[in-house]
Amino acid sequence: MNIHEHQAKEILKEFEAPVSNGVVILSTDDIKKEITKLKGKEFVLKAQIHAGGRGKAGGVKLINNINELETEAKKMMGKTLVTHQTGPEGKEVKRLYIEEASEISKEYYLSCLIDRETSKIAFISSTEGGMDIEKVASENPEKIITNKIELKDQGPDDKEIESIISTFDFNDQQKKVAYKLIKSLYKILVEKDASLIEINPLILTKNNKIICLDAKMNFDDNAIFRRPEILKLRDLNEEDPAEIEASKHDLAYIKLNGSIGCMVNGAGLAMATMDIIKLYGEEPANFLDVGGGASKDKVSAAFKLILSDKNVKGILINIFGGIMRCDVLAQGVVDAAKETNLSVPLVVRLAGTNFKEGKEILDKSNLKILSASDLNDAAKKIVEAIK
Ligand code: ADP
Ligand code: MG
Repeated sequence: MNIHEHQAKEILKEFEAPVSNGVVILSTDDIKKEITKLKGKEFVLKAQIHAGGRGKAGGVKLINNINELETEAKKMMGKTLVTHQTGPEGKEVKRLYIEEASEISKEYYLSCLIDRETSKIAFISSTEGGMDIEKVASENPEKIITNKIELKDQGPDDKEIESIISTFDFNDQQKKVAYKLIKSLYKILVEKDASLIEINPLILTKNNKIICLDAKMNFDDNAIFRRPEILKLRDLNEEDPAEIEASKHDLAYIKLNGSIGCMVNGAGLAMATMDIIKLYGEEPANFLDVGGGASKDKVSAAFKLILSDKNVKGILINIFGGIMRCDVLAQGVVDAAKETNLSVPLVVRLAGTNFKEGKEILDKSNLKILSASDLNDAAKKIVEAIK
């Protein structure tokens, strides 16, 4: 799960990391009242969307005249912002963050994340922070330093912290702040089940202050159940409607860009099904694992979900009945196909528990279904059928 920058900054503040003062605005009518909470004459107006790259897309604006604030906020609110992270459709701005402006002397990059390969926590640091970090990563990867540290109760030790921040060339007083910041990030990662915390830029101001000027946080969906305070921060406006619908039905669904919708039980089989579609020259439209003991209604919901994707030109159902029974699956599919007036080719490969009963339901349904004997056959047939 992702959260907004202003929410991430609240968490940073709670863990005593340095952030600027700011106020969040859901309606431009609130600006006059909210702005009195901030100090200074210069502000930065920041579009709150779950995507980075806002600066280059007009989603971050320096305001040096308070009279401009309302005009600029009205322009930004409701606008569809297209950044290199939103995709071409962009994201509509529904909330703004107004922050006290900082005088930047230097921009750094600092992040920490779970490194699954080594089961460690990786800290990534670079002196080349700011809006071009992707360019740095591809053109000057040596300027990006990764330190992987063991997970331990007391957090990173001095030697590890020293190694993470060494590239910044901080003086003793700045180092003290950085030490504390690294410890805070580590603590947030562990105590809030975050999987990524990215501060870009971390800045040094002209009067020698270190501040987290931007913050992005991701949280582990599988641990959210024990972090209600994080779940409260969820903003459904920012999520794909199909994925919200999927989570309502407890379906593991990820939308992809291809044209063959997949309904499979078991994540491993789902991956194999996607692979074999690619092998035959097409692309899967989604990953979908209907799970073990899915009910008829859950199967129907899954089927409708696949069809709600306008790119879907054909559907491949690949079910290996174990706990999941083929007849339940078949009935769910038939119900949903009738309800939605299915008009795209459908290939079904069933095997395992109640296979016969399942096949009978499909045969009797009068739906145009191509049945397949094995996975290979199924993939070939659906790729043929959508041509
Ligand atoms: P994004 O990463 O989405 O482009 P950032 O929050 O990193 O958005 O902002 C982009 C740039 O805007 C930063 O690199 C920084 O130079 C500037 N900026 C952001 N917030 C402030 C602020 N409070 N004061 C001064 N400059 C800011
Ligand atoms: Mg940024």
